[in-house]
Amino acid sequence: MELWFTENQNENVRFSIKIKEHIYSEKSEFQKIDVYETYGFGKLLTIDGIIMVTEKDEFIYHEMITHVPLAAKPSIKSVLVIGGGDGGTVRELTRYKTIEKIDMVEIDKMVVDVSKKYIKQTSKNLNDERVNLYYEDGIEFVKNRQDEYDLIIVDSTDPIGPGEGLFTEDFYKNCYKALKEDGIMINQNESPYYEKERKEFKRANKKIQKIFPIVEVYQFHMPTYPSGHWLFGFSSKGIKPVNKGINDWNKLDIKTKYYNTDIHNASFMLPNYVKEIIKDEK
Ligand code: SAM
Repeated sequence: MELWFTENQNENVRFSIKIKEHIYSEKSEFQKIDVYETYGFGKLLTIDGIIMVTEKDEFIYHEMITHVPLAAKPSIKSVLVIGGGDGGTVRELTRYKTIEKIDMVEIDKMVVDVSKKYIKQTSKNLNDERVNLYYEDGIEFVKNRQDEYDLIIVDSTDPIGPGEGLFTEDFYKNCYKALKEDGIMINQNESPYYEKERKEFKRANKKIQKIFPIVEVYQFHMPTYPSGHWLFGFSSKGIKPVNKGINDWNKLDIKTKYYNTDIHNASFMLPNYVKEIIKDEK
């Protein structure tokens, strides 16, 4: 008998991956966590039936969420990751010798434990000595921080369940306050393509526009997320995402599979329909 994992992306679209084995399934205090061994995508981590990470395409998401801000501002030393329990974002950050401190605030310890046990590809650097793990609600955590981080990465689930508050105006205000002068915030900005994700992208973008002086959006292609067309937000107190210093990133000699400085510049060039959505929100 064939086994398939199916994500109901919306009422008209489903996405399925053929499964070798259902390795893990447990309900935490916050959400349902599953790990599968798939044909073609390696290990697959889902939360509440939504794809978080597959071993085959996670490099795209994690390289784009980290190397874009680090190329825009190479002097980043202190980083806060909110969410990110699979460890992929931290793995990429630890490749920078210049980063001194990485605080990761993940609400659900079970996601970290499961990733450490079953998905070493993403979780392997969570034990780096610069990494401090906090098992707390990121919304509360940022309330008490001021002028502390050069970079905040919001590596969140969709705005349902515990992730909902990570898409509110108050949360973005607190991130602004927690950032140092010239700080950067990167946020998981959903997708412009299908209506459900487009609504969330618009809502988040509109709120961030009110708080940060520089707000840009960049795109990447993510085969296992709805429509495959996904966005991150780049917001800052002054640094522009595309600037004269970007090419210096190449001197670092960090080997990547997706990110390069051409992609960096190109990822901020948006299709017309996405520009229209952003214009409508201004
Ligand atoms: N790459 C993934 C995606 O976009 O599908 C997201 C990765 S990561 C697994 C998302 C994490 O955010 C989850 O482990 C979840 O527990 C965490 N999370 C959700 N709400 C949170 C909150 N309020 N504070 C901290 N972490 C939160």
